Amino acid sequence: MNDPRVPWRHKRREMMAIARINPVAKWLAKNKRRSDAGCKSCKKAREQRGASTENLPEETHGHINSAFCDGMAATVMAAHHFIWRHLYASMQTAQTPTSKLRFVTPDKECSMNTLWQEEVLEQICSRESLMEKAADIAKTISAKQNERARYDFDPTMFYENRFWNRRPDDIVINQNHRTLSILEFKWSSDRNEDFLVVKEYEANEQHRSIIEALKAAAPEWMFEQINFVAGRRGAVVENDFYNKLEKLNVQAGKRTGFWRCMCSAYAKRMTLM
Ligand SMILES: [Zn+2]
Repeated sequence: MNDPRVPWRHKRREMMAIARINPVAKWLAKNKRRSDAGCKSCKKAREQRGASTENLPEETHGHINSAFCDGMAATVMAAHHFIWRHLYASMQTAQTPTSKLRFVTPDKECSMNTLWQEEVLEQICSRESLMEKAADIAKTISAKQNERARYDFDPTMFYENRFWNRRPDDIVINQNHRTLSILEFKWSSDRNEDFLVVKEYEANEQHRSIIEALKAAAPEWMFEQINFVAGRRGAVVENDFYNKLEKLNVQAGKRTGFWRCMCSAYAKRMTLM
C-alpha cells in the first residue's frame, strides 16, 4: 500500500477488498444493482468453450481470486507461482552459512515424474520402489468428481498418473541428516481466522500419498511437509511463518523482512495483471 510504484486504482481495489465492499456481482446483487450474482468471468470462459452457462458460481472476491474461477484460474495460478518463486529464491539466498540444505526443484514448477529424474532424489529411493509403495496408498484417496471418467476408464493407470502428476511446490533435502521436506505454498482467502488450519489440512491431504509412499520406500530417511500459508488480503500467521523459515535455515535477521518482500512481489504482480 505504501509503495508509490503501485497505481492508485490497484490500491483502491485492494482497500475495497479488505473492507469487503468491492463491486463483485454478489455485492451488487445484494444491493439490487444487479439481477443475479453469477460470476461473469466463469460465464465468459464457458461461452468461449461452448459449455453451458447454467448454475454459475457466485461472483465473490474469494471466488474470482481462486483457481476455482474458470475465467481467472490461469491468472491466479501465475500469481501464486510468481509469489512462491520470490519467496523460494529469498530463502535460498538467506541461508545460514552452516546450512546443508539443498533446494532441489529447478526454477519452474514440475511434476513428481520430472522431479524423480533428478539423481539426488533417485538415490533416496528408485522410481520403481516409490511407485510400488504409492500404488497401495493411492487407492486410499478416492477419485474426485472431475476425475471420475479417467478412473472408470482404467483405475490402475489413473492412480499411477495421479501420483506422478502431483506437483509439490518444492523439495528440500539434507543429505547429512537424511531429511526431505516437501514445501507447499497456499495463497488463501483470509476472510476466516482459521484459514491457516484449513489450508494446512488441505495442503497435507494434497501430498499425503507422496509423504506416505516415501516413508515406506526409504525408511532410513525422515520426510515431512512444510506449508506456507498466506492470506490474499495480506494476513500471515507470523509465529507459524517465522518458525518455518527457521526450520529451513533462513538467517534470523533476514526473516522479518520476508513477508514485506512477498507483499511487494504480490503488489508488483497485481500491477501486471
Ligand atoms: Zn468465476
